[in-house]
Amino acid sequence: MTTDIYSLKLGVNSCYLIRGKNIVMVDAGPPWRLKAFKRKLARLYIRPEEIKLIVLTHSHFDHVGSAKEIKEFTGAKILIHETEKEYLEEGGFIMPKGTNTMGRITKFLFFPILKRIQFDRPEADITILSENFPLDEYGIDGSVIHTPGHTHGSLSVLLRTGEVFAGCLAHNGFPFRLMPGKPIYAEDINEVRESWKKLIKMGAKTVFPGHGKPFPVEVIKRELSLE
Ligand SMILES: [Zn+2]
Ligand SMILES: [Zn+2]
Repeated sequence: MTTDIYSLKLGVNSCYLIRGKNIVMVDAGPPWRLKAFKRKLARLYIRPEEIKLIVLTHSHFDHVGSAKEIKEFTGAKILIHETEKEYLEEGGFIMPKGTNTMGRITKFLFFPILKRIQFDRPEADITILSENFPLDEYGIDGSVIHTPGHTHGSLSVLLRTGEVFAGCLAHNGFPFRLMPGKPIYAEDINEVRESWKKLIKMGAKTVFPGHGKPFPVEVIKRELSLE
């Protein structure tokens, strides 16, 4: 199975398109990004109906804000963790903790604003709990995996070739970190560590974070070994 990967930046969110027989999209950007999405898709010569599934790594607004519009435009189904379904459809979230000084300070600037942002909310078509969701029906050799930590219902997509689309289990670059690494916000930092250990054991090699550019998993291994 050959797989192509496209990065698609929508606002502050790094979204990804994974192409096998069909295309699976990871995350859907902040609100009001449909126009930018259409433009970027056209530039990649991708037809909207090729996208069959949108995996939302978690329900924070910067990852799901345009999900409803993108779902309607592509006809793709939306997959999210069962515990994030209500936040996706109704709004609200558990306030994560800052995992370092930058996170602890910016949390108070950032999250109260997020709470007030209103946008059209999509319905989830598929939810998973702890089981993996294989992507072979899309012609992609990989699966969606429950990787709690940033939020308790965070998901990652791991390909057999080692690429991991980790959402906010990793951050790289502005506005979060200057260097790649673990997230600066997490509901449970211990879960972040355990999820990374699990992904590394399962063969993760290259990290495609929810914010910023891809980086080698060695960065995370080094962080884990220093703790
Ligand atoms: Zn988040
Ligand atoms: Zn985020």
